[in-house]
Amino acid sequence: MEKYNNFINGQWIDSEAKEIIKVEDPATAKVIGEIACAKNSEVDLAVSAAKESFNKRILVDMPLLQRAKLMHRIADETRKVAEEGGKLLCYENGKNLAAAIKEFNDVADMFDYYAGLTDKLEGKTIPVSHNVFDYTVLEPFGVSAHIVPWNYPLSMIGRSLACSFATGNSTVIKTAELTPLSATIFAKAIQNAEVPAGLINIICGYGNEAGSYLVSHPDVNHVVFTGSVATGKKILHSCADKAIPAIVELGGKSAGIVYPDADLNDVVDSAKHAIFGVAGQICTAMSRLVVHKSVKDELIEKLVDLSKSLKVGPGYEEGSELTPVISSNQLDKVEGYARSGIQQGAEAVHGGKRADRNGYFMEATVLNNVTQDMSVAREEIFGPVLSVLEYQDTEEAIAIANDTEYGLGGGVFTKDLNKASWTASKLQAGQVYVNKWFTGSHATPFGGYKQSGYSREKGVDGLKSYLQVKNVGISLS
Ligand code: NAD
Repeated sequence: MEKYNNFINGQWIDSEAKEIIKVEDPATAKVIGEIACAKNSEVDLAVSAAKESFNKRILVDMPLLQRAKLMHRIADETRKVAEEGGKLLCYENGKNLAAAIKEFNDVADMFDYYAGLTDKLEGKTIPVSHNVFDYTVLEPFGVSAHIVPWNYPLSMIGRSLACSFATGNSTVIKTAELTPLSATIFAKAIQNAEVPAGLINIICGYGNEAGSYLVSHPDVNHVVFTGSVATGKKILHSCADKAIPAIVELGGKSAGIVYPDADLNDVVDSAKHAIFGVAGQICTAMSRLVVHKSVKDELIEKLVDLSKSLKVGPGYEEGSELTPVISSNQLDKVEGYARSGIQQGAEAVHGGKRADRNGYFMEATVLNNVTQDMSVAREEIFGPVLSVLEYQDTEEAIAIANDTEYGLGGGVFTKDLNKASWTASKLQAGQVYVNKWFTGSHATPFGGYKQSGYSREKGVDGLKSYLQVKNVGISLS
C-alpha cells in the first residue's frame, strides 16, 4: 500500500511522531493508502517555511509577468497530472472519475484565470492637496493558512490557493483527513512547475490537532476556511483572538422554487446533478424544492423516475451516477436524517435508507410532504436526500426558501424571466440559479449570506479578501 508524505518547503516530509492516517475507498470500505499525519511539529515546519519565503519577498518582488508565467506553469503541470490525481481522488472520495479529473483541470483553470489578473491589481491616487501625492497599493497579508474539506478536495484548494498566490501570499494548506492523497499529486505538479520552496506547503493532519494549531499559530496572518458552520465558528474565534482576517465558506440548505410555469424537466436535470451528484455532498446542493401545489404531483412522479434510473456504483465504474457517501459516520448521519424526516411525517416516495450493498451507499431519497418544522427542512444533510415542500402563493414560497439560518445558494424555475429576477432579488443567498443549478464558473463570485459564511471566492471579487490596502502620502513641499 502506498504511503504519502507532507509537502513542506519543497520536500516530502514524514511525520516526526511516525503517526499515519489511513484512507479508505468509500465504495468498498477498504483502506487504499496512508499518509504521514502532520502534528504540531510539521505545522511549525510548514508555517516557518511559508514565513521565510514571504520575508524573503520571493513572490512579492517577483516581476508580475513572471509571477503570472509561474502560475501558467502550475496550470500546465496540473493538467499533466489530472488523470493520475483524478484517479486517486475518485478512489478516496468516491465521486465519479470524470468529475474527479475535472477537479484537477478546474484547479489549472483557476491558476490560468488568476495569472491574468496578477498585474491588474491597481491602487489609486487620492487628491489630498496640491503639495501631497497620495496613493494606495494592495499588499498581501503574509502567511495564509487554508483548511479544506473532503467533498471537493482539489477544487477547494485551487480556488483559494490561486488567489493567495496571485496576490503574493505564502500558503500552508491543510487537507481533510478523509481525502488527503490526491492533493499530494497536485503537490508533484507544484514541484514540476519549479515553484520556489516554501511558497506552497501542503500538509494533512486531524482538524482538532493540526488544523486548530495551524489557525492559532502566531506566525499565520490570514485564514481561509471551507467546511462546516460549527468548525467555521471555532476558527473565527481563533482568528478573533489574534485579530487576523478570515474568509469562511460554510454549509448550506439551498432551496429551489418551482413556479407553475416551470419546465419540470429542467428541475429533474438539476436534481440529478445538484442533489444526487457526488451523493449530495455539495455545499450548494439543491436540498429543498419548494413546489407549487398545482405541479407537485407531476414533479414528484418525475423525481421518482429519476431516482429509479440512477445507476448506483463506485465512481471508478463506468456509468455510475449515484456514488457512495464519504464514510460510515456520514452514512449513519444521512440515513438518520431520512429516518427522522419519515418519523416526523414526511413520505419517502423513493429511498429513505442505506443501499443494500458493501460500502457507504445511500439510496437516492425523495421526501414528499416535508414541512418547515422538520429537521430535514432545516439542517444540512450532506447526502442524496431531497426534501419537497409545497406552497400556494409566491410570497409563501419566498418565505419558505429564506426560512433557514443558511444562505449559500438558491434557485428558481420559471419561463418568466421577470419573475425570475424578482425572485432572485428576494432570495437571501450568495448565488441564485435560474432554470439550471450550477450555472457558475471560475469567474463568478461564490460565497454565503447569513451563516453560510462571508467574503467571496472565485472571480475578480475573490482577490479582494487576500489583499490589504496601504496608503502612502508623499509631501511634495
Ligand atoms: P468540517 O468542518 O468537519 O472540516 C473541514 C476541515 O476543517 C477539515 O480539513 C477538518 O480537518 C478541519 N477541521 C475540523 N476541525 C477543525 C478545527 N477545530 N480547527 C481547524 N480545522 C478543523 O467539514 P467537512 O465535514 O469536512 O465538510 C463538509 C462541510 O463543508 C459542509 O458543511 C459543506 O457545506 C461545507 N462546504 C462548504 C463549501 C463552500 O464553499 N461554502 C464548499 C465545500 C464544503
